[in-house]
Amino acid sequence: MTSTGTPLGAPAGRPLKAVVIGAGIGGLTTAVALRRVGIDVEVHERASELRAAGSALSVMSNAIAALDTLGIDLGLEKRGRAIETFTIMDYAGSPIRDLPLKEVTDRLGVPCVCVSRADLQQALLEEADGIPLTLGSAATGYTADDTGVTVRFEGGGEARGDLLIGADGFHSAVRRQFVGPEDSRDSGYICWLAVVPFDHPRLTPGYVGHYWGSGQRFGLIDIGHGRYYWWGTKNMPAERSHHWPGGKDEITESFAGWAEEVQEIIRRTPEELILGVPSRDRAFLERWGEGRVTLLGDAAHPMLTTLGQGSGMAIEDAVVLARTLAELPGDVPRALRTYEDRRRERTRGMVAASRSLSDLEQAETPERRAQRDDHFRLASHASLVRQYEESLTFPGLD
Ligand SMILES: Cc1cc2nc3c(=O)[nH]c(=O)nc-3n(C[C@H](O)[C@H](O)[C@H](O)COP(=O)(O)OP(=O)(O)OC[C@H]3O[C@@H](n4cnc5c(N)ncnc54)[C@H](O)[C@@H]3O)c2cc1C
Repeated sequence: MTSTGTPLGAPAGRPLKAVVIGAGIGGLTTAVALRRVGIDVEVHERASELRAAGSALSVMSNAIAALDTLGIDLGLEKRGRAIETFTIMDYAGSPIRDLPLKEVTDRLGVPCVCVSRADLQQALLEEADGIPLTLGSAATGYTADDTGVTVRFEGGGEARGDLLIGADGFHSAVRRQFVGPEDSRDSGYICWLAVVPFDHPRLTPGYVGHYWGSGQRFGLIDIGHGRYYWWGTKNMPAERSHHWPGGKDEITESFAGWAEEVQEIIRRTPEELILGVPSRDRAFLERWGEGRVTLLGDAAHPMLTTLGQGSGMAIEDAVVLARTLAELPGDVPRALRTYEDRRRERTRGMVAASRSLSDLEQAETPERRAQRDDHFRLASHASLVRQYEESLTFPGLD
């Protein structure tokens, strides 16, 4: 059959075809969501094997609820552990504030789940079964015309689709092509992280504890199946955090004298399991695409980790993108601009809130520390509930 073609969408008689760059949380979720609404999709990933670095993360209620609107259930509660308690403490483990997260998730009827990255990736790969995924395929640029987009890969390969989605993370090649070179914004600290089997008499199922010191924080998180995820931060100049040499002695010394469970989990973590990553974001980008090209996840709106919503925003993006394309299949550029409009305010708020909370939480001077602790100690229960309700509710297509 000869296609009559529609200039903006897919040629008549066949489904739209999307090329997704990047098989991280955002790219895989996008592939799954697009297929759910009947769009053909292929994924290209630069890495030659899919390995989720040995850490974990929280998948918040809003992300799980977003997936549910497309009937996607990753079974995360069985793979990880739903958050039951969330307490902020001082460095020695004395409580500053119990946060009403569980109260809000109970009301919403959707949990926040902490899960290893490997388990989340496995869940997404199982859902994506049958979707073409090419590894060792690094995108270098694209050319768009009235009928589609051609992506170029290192080594000379090409892929063509009706649209291109750059889900290629913080250093996105797709973003670079239409934005040009950009600086990142360092946050002034390093983040060390690891996952280990762990138990301790102070810890209860579904435990999340954040411990706050001076220019340092520590997070201890139950991810189920006898495993704990921990992260520790420490203020340091970018020249060092971006080239951290590795080793455990500095971490042990940094958290000496902290709560028993903090020191114990560091003691029990083999040095080779500890990752050190710089903490950084970018100035918020207003324009995420052009024509048949758009961005998603960290490629569009990288944020600091303070709210634990980076992957949540990537998942929400993927669902909104799929549903918007399903609404407007005949006009791809319009669908992509509509998706971007729908996501801009939500993600702008998360980037800004993650940054301002990060600045407050990493407080180093006694005055700033007192301000930080009082901010949380004195906040009304109602205002904490309201903030959680806002961030943990998937706004849908609004
Ligand atoms: C220390 C730390 C803790 C965090 N904790 C949380 C948390 O608790 N909760 C949460 O929600 N978020 C958390 N995040 C953020 C979360 O990890 C990210 O927001 C999320 O992974 C973004 O997913 P993504 O798919 O957009 O990007 P990525 O996960 O970075 O995936 C991008 C993919 O694209 C590939 N790629 C890159 N360039 C190319 C190219 N040119 N061609 C082809 N492929 C390419 C990469 O190899 C990668 O696989 C944390 C981040 C950090 C650093």
